Amino acid sequence: MKTRQTILVVDDSKWIRQIIAARLKSLDVDLQFAEDGLQALEATRNDPPDLILLDVIMPDFNGFEVCRELKAEPRTHDIPVIFLTGADESMDKVHGFNLGAVDYVIKPFDPAELRARVRAALQTKALMDLLTSQTQLDGMTGLYNRRYFDQRLKQEIASAERTRGSLGLLLIDLDRFKRINDMYGHPDGDQVVRRFGVLLQETCRGEDVACRWGGDEFALILPGAGPEQALDAAQRLQHALHHDPSFAKLVGEPITVSIGGGFLRPGEPLDAGVLVHHADRALYASKRAGRNRVTLDQRPWSGAA
Ligand code: GH3
Ligand code: MG
Repeated sequence: MKTRQTILVVDDSKWIRQIIAARLKSLDVDLQFAEDGLQALEATRNDPPDLILLDVIMPDFNGFEVCRELKAEPRTHDIPVIFLTGADESMDKVHGFNLGAVDYVIKPFDPAELRARVRAALQTKALMDLLTSQTQLDGMTGLYNRRYFDQRLKQEIASAERTRGSLGLLLIDLDRFKRINDMYGHPDGDQVVRRFGVLLQETCRGEDVACRWGGDEFALILPGAGPEQALDAAQRLQHALHHDPSFAKLVGEPITVSIGGGFLRPGEPLDAGVLVHHADRALYASKRAGRNRVTLDQRPWSGAA
């Protein structure tokens, strides 16, 4: 998680950008700059800031239009916007708020007022981010939860379809876990779930998305992966599990998992529910075949991944 917040300052006047930079120097934030609306949208899409200071009157693409665009896209919708307006410009403040702005400041800026308004907007943004992260995480393992998984899988499918890329999904279920609970008690069972969560996170690539699907079942979204990479990820996990000494200490016996893999092939339209179903069917095949193994969805693969 990033520690410093970022502000994007959008104004066609270099002088105004410099004044704002000087006024905000004492705040512990990173500043980025854009000279016009198009630059602002591009910068925001590439790396969403925590706050945008947005000039209203700009050539070509004015601040209201930029704000409307930002609020229309899920990725940039929640970024707070403060409008910058000249004292002699007849800005319709209500119009600005209706477009989703959180505040406005009038040029020439009163330095203390500018800082106070910026600080307030950043504090609210930090609280919103914290709230969002808490609704996305599983309390026991710290992995993403099922709600986040559902939303993220849809996003990754849309992105794979757009780029004609592939996407892998592994569903992972602890073997005979009821017996572990019965033999060693629920608290030790909980420790096994936690430790497994750590291993899953540690063995996956940075771009993979590790989730607790629920109970003793986990999911790993593998952007860009085909069968080979998915098998690799599954085997890496099983290897780490097999060699991890913590389980023997916790419950006196090794823990194994059954894994099922499903795929979206390049150029193939596929519903999230269908992808999950394919992975689940493969997981079930792993269980039926004796557990502690990996099964990949067997539909023919013609992609280049
Ligand atoms: P299988 O190999 O077929 O998966 O057998 P299983 O015993 O693991 O069966 P199943 O996956 O259906 O059952 C999961 C069990 O995991 C049921 C539940 O008691 C236990 N469980 C689910 N969540 C938790 C948890 O957070 N902590 C603990 N200790 N146990 C949990
Ligand atoms: Mg199980």
